[in-house]
Amino acid sequence: MTDLTLEQALEAAHPPVLCAVLAHVTGDADAWLQPRWRPVYNPLDRNDIGITPEDQADLRARAAVALQPFVDARHVPPPPSPEITRRIMSHVAGADIPDAYVEFLLDEMALEGTSSRDPRWEPAQRQAARRMKVLVIGAGMSGLLAGIRLKQAGVPFEIVDKNPDVGGTWLENTYPGCRVDSSNHMYSYSFEPHVWPQYFSTQPVLLDYFRGVADRHGLRPHIRLNTTVLEAAWDEARALWRVRLRTPDGAEETVEANAVITAVGQLNRPRLPDIPGRDSFAGVAFHSAEWRHDVDLTGKRVAVIGTGASAFQFVPEIAPAVGQLTVFQRTPPWAFPAPHYHDDIEAPKNWLMQHLPAYAKWWRFYLFWSATDGFIPAVTAEPGWSGPPTAVGQANAEFRELLAISLAAQAQDRPDLLPHVIPEYPVGGKRALLDNGVWIAALKRDNVRLVTESITEITPEGLVTADGGRHAADVIIYGTGFHASRFLMPMRIRGRGGVDLHEQWAGDARAYLGMTVPGFPNLFMLYGPNTNIVVNGSIIFFSECSVRYVVGCLQLLAETGASALEVRGDVHDAFNARVDAANALMAWGAPQSKSWYKNETGRVSQNWPFPLVDYWRATLKPDPADFRLTEPAQAVAAE
Ligand code: NAP
Repeated sequence: MTDLTLEQALEAAHPPVLCAVLAHVTGDADAWLQPRWRPVYNPLDRNDIGITPEDQADLRARAAVALQPFVDARHVPPPPSPEITRRIMSHVAGADIPDAYVEFLLDEMALEGTSSRDPRWEPAQRQAARRMKVLVIGAGMSGLLAGIRLKQAGVPFEIVDKNPDVGGTWLENTYPGCRVDSSNHMYSYSFEPHVWPQYFSTQPVLLDYFRGVADRHGLRPHIRLNTTVLEAAWDEARALWRVRLRTPDGAEETVEANAVITAVGQLNRPRLPDIPGRDSFAGVAFHSAEWRHDVDLTGKRVAVIGTGASAFQFVPEIAPAVGQLTVFQRTPPWAFPAPHYHDDIEAPKNWLMQHLPAYAKWWRFYLFWSATDGFIPAVTAEPGWSGPPTAVGQANAEFRELLAISLAAQAQDRPDLLPHVIPEYPVGGKRALLDNGVWIAALKRDNVRLVTESITEITPEGLVTADGGRHAADVIIYGTGFHASRFLMPMRIRGRGGVDLHEQWAGDARAYLGMTVPGFPNLFMLYGPNTNIVVNGSIIFFSECSVRYVVGCLQLLAETGASALEVRGDVHDAFNARVDAANALMAWGAPQSKSWYKNETGRVSQNWPFPLVDYWRATLKPDPADFRLTEPAQAVAAE
């Protein structure tokens, strides 16, 4: 890779990102943000950027001269003025970036290496923090992040995880074809860039990344693996949490902590469907998140239940090897065209990220913007929409048309499949997937059959459908998702007065900003209720904002000497009312949309319905007025 020249590498440069780098490092925005180089993106193929080949060639030739002095420069030049930055951003986006976004996007890019997410604590606060102890539950993406920030702030902490290693979802899900479906340059910590082998790397690569982060940040000594939290109870008199653990040897142990941060994810308790006779099946059956690598599928009759994000990835992988594959589909998934979904990142592109200052930063910006708030209007309901229930508004209907064309084109030679690959629900009603054609190609194989009749029974021999069809199987694979809305289950959490959190929630988990709940002082959730996103962005962005806020809450304790903070009920309720009203106006909140985003009460308990910038702003730092602060702290012996 290193023997490439700048000229060679520039052949792979993304022209709008190149313009941004040039305007940034040379400081000459007028020269590099010319209208002829401003992109007009094709929504069905973002590689089609509407810049003529001649103009692209001219840009690359000029860039080769202008950027030579900056190759391998040690520091990214300081960011330009806010006005120029906004112009650069708008150029890359091919759309005017609102002023309100500039500060947020600049912070996300951390052009100067620091961001609002780096803890900045006064010496006196650091001194006070040394008397605290924080227990983090979970060593996946968000738990590791919490550990990194607590370490930077100087707060003593311990992380426990039920699994034998760090990595969370990337450790647990090992099914064939498992890979990230947000671009890796965005699905990565803002402060931990990486040389990714693919735009959407595979599970082993992601797991290595998180293991590497844990090692580089010296987190391992703070992590206890194979350790399960059974119960956490708030000791009111002493203002601390007593947390009962199951240790690796099966014994029980109680630890104390001033604060508890849960980082247990939303998608790790497999959900098996309630189909009569499920346990009678005589063959092998397993869930996608508990893949049985010891079961050789070669030549077998395999039944897959579910066509969500997991099945969408593993069905094309196993189809060539199995004898007969029967895919049971209740609802087809929407999928965005992503021709490069499985592609390696070309060496010249990675060269640019490594050798040209700011290229990786502006590339991340491009991904961040194009995959985030830019999508929101297309999944927002029009009040009073009188069109068909297949959409929630005109923009959503138009988006639907685009995606339907792409799906239909793939199945046009199979009239039997065609009606079954285009969803009836609005785009955004469920998680939309990334499509490079392998899904429908798999369904079209001679040894694959798509069954859309509902399953009525499972027998020792296989599955029975409502039309009386009997589908013999040697193996059943459940791609049926997770108990997502059962937040924090199966842990028992008891707050002030011994109140059980799950009883308080009664199946309808809510929190303030997804993190704090009245009656549960110093308990903070990461990836908690209403912090999931459907079309806009990466969960890592949310976790970085949440952790900043949680660390800010701890800083508030250190600053005030209070032992506990607890969100006010009225603040919590008003927030949730706003969330519910906004979710009702999104495609996933529409009555005709059914998914794991809604809990058993029908409320959307998973999703954040506002632009990302709103979460960023709301979590900059806690407002003391939102909380009740109590008494001086009871120190837990620091390590
Ligand atoms: P999922 O999206 O909840 O899909 C479950 C599938 O099982 C759906 O197709 C569902 O149909 C079907 N199903 C459930 N019960 C059924 C029954 N009785 N009969 C027939 N079909 C039934 O689960 P998932 O695919 O594991 O994905 C869950 C989430 O994890 C995703 O939305 C995504 O956020 C995340 N994920 C991410 C990635 C990635 O980034 N690479 C990969 C996998 C998962 P209905 O739609 O009709 O309910």
